[in-house]
Amino acid sequence: MSFSLLSLLFPPKCPVCRTRLEKDEVLCPKCLSEYQKEKYRPCKKCGKKSCRCSCRPAVSTPDAFAYLSVFRYDEKSPGGRMILKLKDRKDQRIAAFLAKDLEKSLQNGCILRSDALITHVPRDPDAILEKGTDQARELADALARHCSLERAVCLKSKGGKKQKTLSSKERLENARGRYALSERCPDLQGRQVILVDDILTGGSTLTVCAELLKSKGALSVVCLAAGRR
Ligand SMILES: [Zn+2]
Ligand SMILES: [Zn+2]
Repeated sequence: MSFSLLSLLFPPKCPVCRTRLEKDEVLCPKCLSEYQKEKYRPCKKCGKKSCRCSCRPAVSTPDAFAYLSVFRYDEKSPGGRMILKLKDRKDQRIAAFLAKDLEKSLQNGCILRSDALITHVPRDPDAILEKGTDQARELADALARHCSLERAVCLKSKGGKKQKTLSSKERLENARGRYALSERCPDLQGRQVILVDDILTGGSTLTVCAELLKSKGALSVVCLAAGRR
């Protein structure tokens, strides 16, 4: 079935409020303007717009050159709803939409090298089986396509306790047990690595993953998330 016929039978709807979308829209105009507000909402710490904030999270490492993000995360807000949607199933339109803004935050927060390598924080294999997709992987794929940069899988998740249920102290220790370098990880000697995740919370996951990438020779690691709690 052709794409146009499909969209005639199942007209695309706004992933946030379910109103029908016009051609080429990813969000309806109302949700789009709310989303823009989240991007421009000032950070409580540095006062910069969320999409320009590079505040270090509670847990951070000098191995990560920067911690960047696009919008202030809230489950009910348009950005948060888009992330939830991506967790449920692949949606290339949403991933491509967010990739454009991820690139802007990246360009604002670091000097992006043309030989940079894009990788992602892998989701727990059990969670993928249960829910369907790895949203950070989708975002990293879309970002690599958008910026024409090399893409690699460098890390793997070994599963374990969910970070959500732990105190911030326990989170770092738990994250160390959860992630490891993947057998597929290429040599990172001298490379700038962009580490993509969906949401930046306390920073322990990104921090542990940045340390692993550094141990494989990465020259610098830039942590980049769509939302920041
Ligand atoms: Zn809407
Ligand atoms: Zn800030």
